[in-house]
Amino acid sequence: MTPPKRILTGDRPTGRMHLGHYVGSLKARAELQYEYETFLIIADLHMLTTKNEKADIEAIDENAREMVLDYFACGIDPFRVTIYLQSAVHEVYELNTLFQNLVTVPRLERLPSLKDMARAANKEEMPYGLLGYPVLQAADILTPRAHLVPVGKDNLAHVEITREIARRFNYLYGEVFPIPEALVPEVGTLVGTDGQAKMSKSLGNAILLSDDSKTLRKKVFSMYTDPARIHADIPGRVEGNPVFIYHDVFNPNRAEVEELKARYRAGKIGDVEVKERLFAVLDAFLDPIRERRARYEADTGFVDEMIYKGTLRTRQEAQATLMAAKKAMGLTGVWNRISRRAERREKRLERANVQTLEHSNV
Ligand code: ATP
Ligand code: MG
Repeated sequence: MTPPKRILTGDRPTGRMHLGHYVGSLKARAELQYEYETFLIIADLHMLTTKNEKADIEAIDENAREMVLDYFACGIDPFRVTIYLQSAVHEVYELNTLFQNLVTVPRLERLPSLKDMARAANKEEMPYGLLGYPVLQAADILTPRAHLVPVGKDNLAHVEITREIARRFNYLYGEVFPIPEALVPEVGTLVGTDGQAKMSKSLGNAILLSDDSKTLRKKVFSMYTDPARIHADIPGRVEGNPVFIYHDVFNPNRAEVEELKARYRAGKIGDVEVKERLFAVLDAFLDPIRERRARYEADTGFVDEMIYKGTLRTRQEAQATLMAAKKAMGLTGVWNRISRRAERREKRLERANVQTLEHSNV
């Protein structure tokens, strides 16, 4: 039987997750874990490329825990996946160094995503580490020798860099790495509660997976709808209206959604009623998520244990991969030959009963 194929995916540890994350990544992960052996990276080294102050680093601990609680809350099975802390896997740094020579600076400079990230982080000039972000990502993906990389659309170009690095490595040194495939979810980006194109914590327009009913209600009722609709009897726009977008994504009762849309278009329903229905839908959606989250949260140290064990497990994988890579490159051979010659000399001198130190003093 061939071993199951592997997935590598994950997130920077920025804290609690929202509905956008659920739609864009968590849902697919929870499904794919049954078919693939899944490695989930807590990408703290990636975070350092844009946020590297002492306070940012101190927050990794709690942010990682909140994030992993959200994973488990969404049905990611702690006993099925391997979750690890990137910065604690030393071999990743080594692979990163080896891979840096397999890609050119202009190739990286052409990636629009990096310029966007630098701008978002208020960096006037491109940090060296940020330019190398996709190379480090290649080290992450190729550490467990993953076959499939579920990512957002914005990360597609980075996976392409990984493929180029893996191909180049295999061509120069021999077949060590599979050429991984990116998997981009078919669903688009989920809009924010304010109608902006992307739900994002930094934009303050996110509904968190851990929001309680009261917070959820407040957020739903302050949602942006159709600005042209100042009275309930004015025909409203359903297209591009976040309230209806959320109904489309989260309301399992299709007939109800169609009925609400028809009445909204005809000016026969108020925003309040549509939002009341949406609140009920989202509250029902979040309820089992909150429940699971609370259960894992109550088990003190459980998340830490999962990260700890997953990191140890990933280290073993990483050691094997790094060894295979260095062996293929011939680096292991160089060191082995030097060590062997040095040891032979030591033994020779020992046999001749001459102390190395005395000898060198001659
Ligand atoms: P935030 O954007 O809230 O600050 P983040 O920066 O950690 O959180 P990103 O790095 O933007 O999140 O995205 C992480 C993953 O989640 C990506 O795979 C991305 O596609 C997905 N994602 C994030 N926000 C959304 C969204 N609004 N809709 C769909 N997918 C999303
Ligand atoms: Mg973001």
